[in-house]
Amino acid sequence: DQAMYQAKLAGKGRYHLFDPEHDRSVRSHHESLERLQQALAREEFVLHYQPKVNLRSGEVIGVEALVRWQHPERGLLPPGEFLPVIEEHALTEALGEWVIRRALAQAAAWRREGLGLPVSVNMAARHLRQREFPERLAALLVEQPDLPAGSLELEILETSALGDLAQVTELLEACRRLGVQVSLDDFGTGYSSLTYLKRLPAGTVKIDQSFVRDLLDAPEDLKILAGVLGLAEAFERQVIAEGVETLEHGQLLLRLGCELGQGYGIARPMPAAEVPGWCAGWHPPAVWAGQAPLAPS
Ligand code: C2E
Ligand code: MG
Ligand code: MG
Ligand code: MG
Repeated sequence: DQAMYQAKLAGKGRYHLFDPEHDRSVRSHHESLERLQQALAREEFVLHYQPKVNLRSGEVIGVEALVRWQHPERGLLPPGEFLPVIEEHALTEALGEWVIRRALAQAAAWRREGLGLPVSVNMAARHLRQREFPERLAALLVEQPDLPAGSLELEILETSALGDLAQVTELLEACRRLGVQVSLDDFGTGYSSLTYLKRLPAGTVKIDQSFVRDLLDAPEDLKILAGVLGLAEAFERQVIAEGVETLEHGQLLLRLGCELGQGYGIARPMPAAEVPGWCAGWHPPAVWAGQAPLAPS
């Protein structure tokens, strides 16, 4: 579980082997932990936002909040550089709450500007095991009384429910009763996809970028994608593809019947200030707009 998390943070879908040496060096850094605590107190963390769109219509359906550390000496650091350090520490919950509070405040600010944009946040496995999480989430939502709870989505990994499916399911049901949405992140990379798809109360399934990346030269990934789309439809879940990097990716997804996408080919994660302008200016490439789904055979 932990090895997978490390691999995931090290590079999306690249399945790095877990390196215990590296792990030891990361976690023996007590300094780093304290430094991260300090960073949170000093508000050195920042959220960037990556758009999620309808590839055909061009509608921006939401943004995903991704945390970065604006380090005074080292510059802007990606989450893979610091989340593993706090993974087993209560700082994970503290940072998680900061992320949710910040994302809600941002969504409320955009809403006041006339931009209704749902925001999703990534949930750490450890945070999902905090029994009082739904109560704390309710308190965070109350801080933005004008924002509908449906503007927040929690992205969870099926691996965070590993060994504790019943408890995580119950916790997520409680979050959904608050009006918050749930999506299953990196779908296809875990172990028990079918059970988790069936049991976890997620309205949306995010297909991992590793399946999308190799779509053009790996026919088996195309089959996986078509299969996942069929499954998601059977379970009445919405599907969004991660890792849309090229025009061809978008074209293929649309031909397979997947209309929602996110990826560098659409937009990289960006600071909050750039989001409204990006939303106003983005149009899907003409080849996407005209892409007809394959006729069912
Ligand atoms: P994720 O939730 O699956 O987020 C997608 C990651 O893939 C992001 O990396 C994003 O910048 C990157 N990405 C987006 N489009 C593309 C693409 O087309 N190609 C490629 N190669 N990559 C793309 P990032 O920001 O480095 O985040 C990595 C992971 O760190 C996230 O994966 C998520 O699991 C975790 N993470 C990020 N922010 C948070 C947070 O606030 N809390 C927690 N607990 N985890 C976070
Ligand atoms: Mg995510
Ligand atoms: Mg991912
Ligand atoms: Mg993902």
